Amino acid sequence: MLDPECLFCEIGNGKIQVDFVDRTEDCFVIKDINPAAPVHLLVIPFEHVTYIDEFVGGNREIMSSMFGAATESAKKAGILDSGYRLVINQKGHAGQQIEHLHLHVLGGAKLGTMA
Ligand code: 5GP
Ligand code: ZN
Repeated sequence: MLDPECLFCEIGNGKIQVDFVDRTEDCFVIKDINPAAPVHLLVIPFEHVTYIDEFVGGNREIMSSMFGAATESAKKAGILDSGYRLVINQKGHAGQQIEHLHLHVLGGAKLGTMA
């Protein structure tokens, strides 16, 4: 299901045009508009899923696809061996800004320690 009010649904269905770094059957990869590292990609499922806790009881293949696309994108960006960080912000305390599940891929330089 798509949500017409949702930015990442609109990017996924092509209504808002953004270059995809990569795409699979289940998800697409774009550059973050406000990068926090030299490489900062977002892996986003086409399906509108807000939180990981919606996967309880099923749909886990989307998560598996997202991690696969993240690894593939890290490889294409040349950061597979130097190292990278995968981050999924969930809800208020994590500062989730966009309520459509997405996986951040960060790398290209030594990253700061985690909060
Ligand atoms: P969150 O805080 O929800 O985990 O991450 C949302 C991310 O989406 C932020 O890093 C933000 O910079 C990025 N972002 C917000 N709006 C846009 C946009 O229009 N295009 C792209 N490519 N990234 C966006
Ligand atoms: Zn959405």
